[in-house]
Amino acid sequence: MRRAPQPAIEFPAEVALRRLRSLIQGCARCDALVRCRSRVVPGDGSVPAAVAFVGIAPGRLGGDRTGIPFSGDRSGQLLRRMIDGAGLQRVFITNLVRCNPRDAAGRNRDPTAAEIAQCRVHLRAEFSLAQPKIVACLGRLAWKELAGRTAPFAPRCGKIAEVDGLLFFPMYHPAFVNRGAYPIRWYARDFARLSRLLALRAHEKSKDRPTKADKLHVV
Ligand code: URA
Repeated sequence: MRRAPQPAIEFPAEVALRRLRSLIQGCARCDALVRCRSRVVPGDGSVPAAVAFVGIAPGRLGGDRTGIPFSGDRSGQLLRRMIDGAGLQRVFITNLVRCNPRDAAGRNRDPTAAEIAQCRVHLRAEFSLAQPKIVACLGRLAWKELAGRTAPFAPRCGKIAEVDGLLFFPMYHPAFVNRGAYPIRWYARDFARLSRLLALRAHEKSKDRPTKADKLHVV
């Protein structure tokens, strides 16, 4: 006898993420961003997550069109290719700011300090749902915001920083690599390092003792 198709099971964290996304989509905290954005682009991905990637803000040709961070543009393509290549799973992707900031000529601009501060409440809510083991900061701006102004930004050696119980891992922004400022081969190596660090933490945590990864390179 053919069985009726079963409805997809949604876990509580996924339901909570859907609710959080729709709450964030109604945000109107920043006048300038409300005027220039096409839509609000909340974080998206697995909850709970092994790793959360944090970029700057949705791109004009990417998230601002698709509604999903790092999708539909070259930065998104490269980031997702690197994630797949390193075999990373349970990934959450988000940004410091959830609206596309534009200048008077309609080009992407960096978000202001005030816009980043206004959006921090959404980032915190996403982190508390995703509970990432490690947060990979894409670019100096995300690193300085999250790991602290005094922490050196050193993606080549992958020194992690611990702030309020969260671990932050420095990485170049994919746009920096796309413009040829950093070799793709080295970028892939940095993702492989992140993947090894996650595997090491998972392995050593499973044995419930202080981890070698805990002692690795914390600034
Ligand atoms: N797309 C994003 O979502 N964030 C960035 O920082 C760049 C492109």
